[in-house]
Amino acid sequence: MSQQQPPVNTLGRSLTKRYNRRLRRVMLDLGLTCPNRDGATGYGGCIYCDLSGSGTGASSREQDIEGQWQEGLARARRTNPEAPSAIIYFQSYSNTYPDLSALKSSLDKIHDWAVDAPIVTIGTRPDCFSEEAAQLLAEQLKYFEEVWIEFGLESADDNVQRRIGRHDTLQNFRDSCKLAHKYGLKIVAHCMAGLPEEKEDGLLRQVEEINNANCHGIKFHQLMVLRKTILAKQWMNGEIELLDDKQYIQKVADALEMLDPNIIVHRLVAEAPDSEYLAPKPWPGRQKVHSRIELEMKLRGSTQGCKRKTP
Ligand code: SF4
Repeated sequence: MSQQQPPVNTLGRSLTKRYNRRLRRVMLDLGLTCPNRDGATGYGGCIYCDLSGSGTGASSREQDIEGQWQEGLARARRTNPEAPSAIIYFQSYSNTYPDLSALKSSLDKIHDWAVDAPIVTIGTRPDCFSEEAAQLLAEQLKYFEEVWIEFGLESADDNVQRRIGRHDTLQNFRDSCKLAHKYGLKIVAHCMAGLPEEKEDGLLRQVEEINNANCHGIKFHQLMVLRKTILAKQWMNGEIELLDDKQYIQKVADALEMLDPNIIVHRLVAEAPDSEYLAPKPWPGRQKVHSRIELEMKLRGSTQGCKRKTP
């Protein structure tokens, strides 16, 4: 990436180059669970996860996926009246767990949607990904231009994984990325800044792993305290220190300088509905933080990957 180019290789820019527009995500909720909630690896979930498993909660409102799709597509078409307008996103919980039956029967229903949504994305945990899951997703490449698998990494330190009650491992992340590559799937990795007991260079270590795993995309998140989470209790008890917006922006800019410039940045900052959000406060809106991260990169004279040592 040259100095004339934007400092960050964002998904919006990448989609605009390819489709002449930004496709809108249509979130689908299959009403599944996650091994960290049903007792297979833990109970209660990761400390920051709310009861909807970071999803829309549509399934608990008994809306089937056709209804969810039609509603989401109508919203996407307000911005993009012409096809393609959307990305299909199986977001909530771990979509390849406890088995593949719900995902498979949903995938069988969505092939015709590819006209409006040429990309399908499936979110899961690395420890819930298998050869069988990879095969099922690879079959979707007959219908869709791209299939993205989203893996939470969240920390490259297994001690932090235990502290946050996540109970996955760095090795699982590495192995699942290899498997996804074998089947031609595109990998989007989630990383997080500000977790308790994360070391000062925690975000940089995550980026290094994501570079080494040859991921195609990355999402950056700050630790947020949401209502009805274990984290909310710990925060109210004074056990948790949160990053403020200035600290977060510096950390993400440092991480971007080390990130492979070919990796597409799908998200620079997370957001949550006001009704669920507790802290950190004050916190500027998503768009403001996004702009301030890009501004910080420009002020530093940096571009994505400018400090990365290539082998
Ligand atoms: S792995 Fe995901 S869905 Fe499961 S508890 Fe953690 S954040 Fe929630």
